[in-house]
Amino acid sequence: MDTKKVKLTFCGGAGSTTGANFLLESHSTNILIDCGLEQGGGAASEHNREAFPYNPHEITTLLITHAHIDHIGRIPKLVKDGFKGIIYSTPATRDLAEVMLADAGRILEEEAKAKGILPLYEHKDIVEALKLWKKAEYHTFIDLGDSLQAYVKDAGHILGSVMYEISAEGSDKKLVFTGDLGNSPTLFLNDTESIKGAAYLVMESVYGDRNHESKEERKQKLTEVIQDTIARNRTLIIPAFSLERTQDIIFEMNDLVEHNIIKPIPVYLDSPLGSQVTAIYKRYIKNGDDLFDFPKLTFTVHRTQSEAIHTAGNPKIIIAGSGMSSGGRVLSHEWYYLGRKDATLLFVGYQAAGTLGRRILDGAKEVIMGGQKIKIRAEIKSIMGYSSHKDSDHLIEFVEQGQETLKKVFVAMGEPKSSLFLVQRLRDYLNVNAVYPKRGETVELEM
Ligand SMILES: [Zn+2]
Repeated sequence: MDTKKVKLTFCGGAGSTTGANFLLESHSTNILIDCGLEQGGGAASEHNREAFPYNPHEITTLLITHAHIDHIGRIPKLVKDGFKGIIYSTPATRDLAEVMLADAGRILEEEAKAKGILPLYEHKDIVEALKLWKKAEYHTFIDLGDSLQAYVKDAGHILGSVMYEISAEGSDKKLVFTGDLGNSPTLFLNDTESIKGAAYLVMESVYGDRNHESKEERKQKLTEVIQDTIARNRTLIIPAFSLERTQDIIFEMNDLVEHNIIKPIPVYLDSPLGSQVTAIYKRYIKNGDDLFDFPKLTFTVHRTQSEAIHTAGNPKIIIAGSGMSSGGRVLSHEWYYLGRKDATLLFVGYQAAGTLGRRILDGAKEVIMGGQKIKIRAEIKSIMGYSSHKDSDHLIEFVEQGQETLKKVFVAMGEPKSSLFLVQRLRDYLNVNAVYPKRGETVELEM
């Protein structure tokens, strides 16, 4: 059987969780997998502004795994810098990307204005990027040129998320890019598909060193917090990421109301982006209209509606972005309620170091908001089980399916501590050749 040599470069998302960007070069075709934004402030925003380590003109195809901004956020810059190839993703990812990029673009423009610098990209670059987009359905092949092809598999991470299985014509060696891997089967998405038969694997490792609380446990905790909100006539504020976490929480509440475990109380989804994303979920998921709606759930659009929530009586629940209280409407609710004894703030997602959410979660007694010192009197709670990533044990289980044929596993898309821990576990438990690629490193693979 003929073998084909390809070159794989870890341009981003190696040694870090965010900024996924992998380059696959063969004789006459250059393929990118994801083109994400680095997140987390400091050096990340500098990295985002750097020139790409390849010529965007020479890239023929960009494959997108899913619509989280750390996988798509630099696409408009790629287009601005000269990319004219084809962008492929599932239809859901394309629709989600449109609203996610518009939102990120607005924030980037505001930040640039405040700093007096040029924005990373402008709205017109997003429009140009969308023109290059082609839809690829699950379980179909994408022709990449130079007798290479990509097969589209379900990653079970968020709506529309995929893994790409790349192979050369006439060869049985497959190279799989996982993107992010779902904590699956999730509440309303399919299970992650198997990588049986893969020779090479580029995988995520966000939770390479930790396991999540169980799905029963997290649901029980959420139930208790809501029941307490009702029994003690309180306001419950849930900061939530707009894509996937907001829908997870609404889905779970819908289920609790439908099964009479909690009685319906007013719930406000006070996030324009969260509402747009939920509308896309309703379109793509069977019974989506029923799954993401229940009595007394209100989607607030205008700022005046948002402000009116404060005068509505208790008990009530407010779900708002951003998920780490680093911006968005949740800030005005935290400003109003953090100083009140009849409010509870519930964290349901990761809070990065340096964010307001992290300071509150870590037990700050007071915070400064809008130039005002607020003494925290609200109760602070957290549930960390609503992750959309596989935990350490499930990552191991996932790799185990390909154990017989795997020649090499590249552990990427995680913090160094987490990735290195997973590398060691994969070597010890499965005896597979797992490595930790560095940012910028190139390897040659026989396909
Ligand atoms: Zn993701």
